[in-house]
Amino acid sequence: MIFYGSKGKHIATENVNSIHCDYCKQQSTHTISIFGRYAHLYWIPLFPLSKKGVSECNHCKRTLAPKEMNEPLKMAYKNVKLSTKSPLWYWSGTALIVGLAIFGIKASKDHDKEMVHFIETPKKGDIVDYKIDGEYSTFKVTAVSSDSVYLVPNQYTINRETKLYKIDKPENYTDTPSALSLKQYKNYFDDKTFLDIERK
Ligand SMILES: [Zn+2]
Repeated sequence: MIFYGSKGKHIATENVNSIHCDYCKQQSTHTISIFGRYAHLYWIPLFPLSKKGVSECNHCKRTLAPKEMNEPLKMAYKNVKLSTKSPLWYWSGTALIVGLAIFGIKASKDHDKEMVHFIETPKKGDIVDYKIDGEYSTFKVTAVSSDSVYLVPNQYTINRETKLYKIDKPENYTDTPSALSLKQYKNYFDDKTFLDIERK
């Protein structure tokens, strides 16, 4: 279940002097309060929605919504509302999402670069993720020579690539390595039989 909605918060108060009050008939000071609404997701503000406000006559304490205000009061209200900016933190959720996306893209690019390097230079101890018949498993690199890579297979498979860590245990690998030429090893990555390399 996703929790989202909007929330209002008081953001500014300003006094305007000498405006005629239709109720107490005085030239009095009115306090104008501005409230800003923002959209939220799980209570984290995403972006500002609208601003609204009320005025209060400091003499008779009558509060008015914009549509009840006389012209001079309405003008003053509009000015205060215009000069009141929604606080930047109303955008904090959006900033967080954008930040995470940029971080994710960078991490994934870094990993892609790293992968190119790992594939070119296999190393003893590398764990290679691969897919077979809709299941996932791993190989462990046990040795590398000038033209070959030696791999021992994991005896187990699992239904998701992200769960491979569950079967990547030393005791799950067999003792008999098979050799692949370096060329063949790289080809398996090109045709997506081999998916990923973990290097510790
Ligand atoms: Zn009044």
